[in-house]
Amino acid sequence: MRPLALALGLSGALASACEHTGQAAPVAVAASRAQEASEVASTPAPEVEPESEPEPEPEPEPEPEPAPEPDAEPEPEPETATPGPQIEVLEKPEYLRHRPAPMETLDQVAHRYGVSLERLCKWNGLAEDYALHKVWRKPKLKVWARRKAPPRERREHTVVEGDSWGSVARQYGVASTDLRAYNVREVGRQMEPGEVLELWIDPVVYAEIQLGPTPEGLRRGAYSIGSPNEGRLVNAVQLPPSESYTLSYPNSVWGTTSSVAALVRALERWRRESDYGGVLRIGTMSRQRGGEVGHHKSHQTGRDIDIRLPLKIDVPQGLAPEPWRVDWLATYRLIQSLAAEPQSSVIFFDYKLQKRLAKAAEAAGVPAEEIAETLQWPIGSKSSRGFVRHEPGHTHHIHVRFHCGPAEPECVE
Ligand SMILES: [Zn+2]
Repeated sequence: MRPLALALGLSGALASACEHTGQAAPVAVAASRAQEASEVASTPAPEVEPESEPEPEPEPEPEPEPAPEPDAEPEPEPETATPGPQIEVLEKPEYLRHRPAPMETLDQVAHRYGVSLERLCKWNGLAEDYALHKVWRKPKLKVWARRKAPPRERREHTVVEGDSWGSVARQYGVASTDLRAYNVREVGRQMEPGEVLELWIDPVVYAEIQLGPTPEGLRRGAYSIGSPNEGRLVNAVQLPPSESYTLSYPNSVWGTTSSVAALVRALERWRRESDYGGVLRIGTMSRQRGGEVGHHKSHQTGRDIDIRLPLKIDVPQGLAPEPWRVDWLATYRLIQSLAAEPQSSVIFFDYKLQKRLAKAAEAAGVPAEEIAETLQWPIGSKSSRGFVRHEPGHTHHIHVRFHCGPAEPECVE
């Protein structure tokens, strides 16, 4: 039992996109480096405005904005303490200026500052379909926000033998489609050794990559852009094969580094600590580049995963997980193990089956308060209590959602 971790996980589920990223970090340093970089960049990079361009600088009149909700509960600790540039959460909203980098979309800017696209457009007098990434002379954008991350910085990479668009993209934490767009001026052109590539790194993502693999052996720098229902996945990592579980769709188990790491820890710990001897089938997470997958509404950003309910050991493991075949105690223990990861946000599971989980846990001596923290039952399917939340149709599997990781500036909870 990990009631503390469970409580932290819960508070995280209620916090907004940015609030679990922890203490504000030495962003001033990063910001000044970013400034430097964009000044250096302004000569060779054609898409950057010259520094000297006169700017209409009317002091923006702050619109009355609703004050942000005070944080009701303590924030969970970030999964990894990332040194260097980080996402910063301001005490109150401020007017900020954003200088867009090549290929950056309006959506990405909105996500970065935790504001809606609609508002971003309104503040800047732009239409919502304004194609920022296609505009040569990009306007500096005004943003009224309480969350900020240092802007993208220009870098150069000299191609060596063996480099590919994908490997360079992963090394710097940029999307390979963006990397090509920065550099390919002829369709289908390959990179050549000695060639100097231009790229625009996200300082937060880049700093994370410098930490090397996670303790689970995963490559860092797999991140999501947007929300689980409308988003994508960049430089994804694949859930590795393991004796602890079986992958039903190995091509659709791609995720963010922090989600896959939390999942691996939870599944391995569950297998070690529960005495369950049957098969655990892992369903869909996301496609390698995210976006829509099958009939799922979400699963677009590498932060959702379906796990089939574990069957009783004496039942043929290929049968459908109808309620009478399910090992409910093993399922409850699995939920507990997932809930103990601060990176976990919520589990979706049909309310009408939650009673079976509660009864199995009760019979195994799990304290009543802990069951109450874990499930909505018996309060009702609309209750905002419980780590497990009702979602119709989720009767054969649990659907786990993870938070945005600490190094994902354009991720939306
Ligand atoms: Zn699902």
